[in-house]
Amino acid sequence: MLEAGELVAHAVRPIALVTGGARGIGLGIVRRFLADGYRVAFVATRAEHVNKALDYLSWSENRLYAERLDVTQADEVRGFVDRVRLLWGEIGILVNNAGISPKRVDQDTPWLSQTSIEEWARVIDVNLNGPFTLIRLLAPAMITKGYGRIINIGSVAGRAMPMIAGPHYAASKAGLVGLTRAAARDLAPHGITVNCIAPGRVLSDLTGPPEASVNRSALSRIPVGRFGTAEEVAHLAAFLASSKAGFITGATIDITGGEFGA
Ligand code: NDP
Repeated sequence: MLEAGELVAHAVRPIALVTGGARGIGLGIVRRFLADGYRVAFVATRAEHVNKALDYLSWSENRLYAERLDVTQADEVRGFVDRVRLLWGEIGILVNNAGISPKRVDQDTPWLSQTSIEEWARVIDVNLNGPFTLIRLLAPAMITKGYGRIINIGSVAGRAMPMIAGPHYAASKAGLVGLTRAAARDLAPHGITVNCIAPGRVLSDLTGPPEASVNRSALSRIPVGRFGTAEEVAHLAAFLASSKAGFITGATIDITGGEFGA
């Protein structure tokens, strides 16, 4: 039987914002949240990806809203948040999932020396500054409500020796672990939890097909002997987003099939 608090939590499901919700892990989280009864707003950079995801989800109820935008453009993000507020009200769950991971061009040159300053800045901008902007923007309303859930999607590459990712990606994801802790400390007294999910290899457009040589060698390092799925990451996000997860904050939770770097 449900406790009274759980009944209330189900009756007033918060509004969720998922960045990078058009593909891969983000799309898995959008699907999960819709299935759990949330109203879900998501963004991605390309309009055609947003539209493809909307077609795929084919959701008729007024519980899904999406736009094309770049999380590094603070004005675009502010405009989007304002439109969601007008449509449904304040956002209570934020999933900072949008991320990029440039591929290594030359396998024979150290990755550090082939990372341009511009590429470094872009990765930090999308993967770390984007989440910071959104947390800054959404936390005040969560504080007013006395409730909120913030989930940052990090990576095993920010936790252990990065085996596949570049220095910018590893640094941005390690930065998210620190941002998660700092935000968790500040927001805990206001009923807001902030956590980081650190996936290992999950097949998506970002990682490419399973037969790619980089994935075949990655597979050999995963103790459970398979890749993760977006659905598995989404289930973890759904738990952290729920009212049941109120005692978990500042945590980085690995979901890697046992892999932890070299
Ligand atoms: P995908 O490349 O499949 O999808 C990324 C999504 O993020 C896309 O919808 C993309 O938009 C969106 N996006 C990228 N940049 C921006 C931006 N500047 N503004 C708004 N949206 C943006 O990635 P995954 O699903 O694989 O990864 C999701 C997250 O999980 C990332 O943070 C990644 O670093 C992390 N991760 C993934 C792992 C994996 O093995 N897949 C492992 C560890 C961490 P569009 O569709 O328009 O291009």
